[in-house]
Amino acid sequence: MTTLRSACFVVIGAGGLGCPALLALSAAGARRAIVLDHDRVEVHNLQRQVLYDVGDVGALKVEAAARRLPGLAIEPVRRRLMPSEVPAFVAGLPAAAVVLECSDQPALKFAFNDACLAHGVPLVVGAALGWHGQALAVRPGAACYRCVYEAPPPAELVPRCDEAGVIGSGVGHIGMLMAQLALRLAEGDGTVAGQLWAIDMLHARVQRLAPHLRAGCPAHRLAVARPSPLASPP
Ligand SMILES: [Zn+2]
Repeated sequence: MTTLRSACFVVIGAGGLGCPALLALSAAGARRAIVLDHDRVEVHNLQRQVLYDVGDVGALKVEAAARRLPGLAIEPVRRRLMPSEVPAFVAGLPAAAVVLECSDQPALKFAFNDACLAHGVPLVVGAALGWHGQALAVRPGAACYRCVYEAPPPAELVPRCDEAGVIGSGVGHIGMLMAQLALRLAEGDGTVAGQLWAIDMLHARVQRLAPHLRAGCPAHRLAVARPSPLASPP
């Protein structure tokens, strides 16, 4: 019989969302993760990238994260993934994979939404900017990221954290919430899918919205339902 410990959590981005998510996954008993990031630790990001300290500045994030969480077998992948490469990447993931999309690239979030639905891989998408953050668990049969937002905005209209700022505690909340949703998906609990969590740190407001599965959403056309990792044979 397999257990939660056999699930493989695939964390895309080891920054402000990925760091708290990895901490929460490790503390909950996860044993295996693939962490993908191409970047190095920078001192001005330490306030929200809570896995690292000043001694890690200049190190690859994937290697610093693996050092910090020895109880979690992390496969570090130093790579900058382009949206066009996501379908092949998702197709090659282990059967017990649960993906956490923690990057700051909207186009990547849509690409993972579509590819994970097409391959039946459970997914949690998160984002945070300024005082606000959102998280959404995605599974076939429930509203997906594309049901809610339809398409990524033009790249020139997407503000970066470096430009617009981000509240460290806000991004930490979202990262922790993403980990909790991923753990629920790994346990085969599909009831968390399709609920959009929205946090407004400025007004201390948390909302749980229930968007509709949008008729004609192209991401659902090829969606595949797959048993949860815990339901897989050992
Ligand atoms: Zn959809």
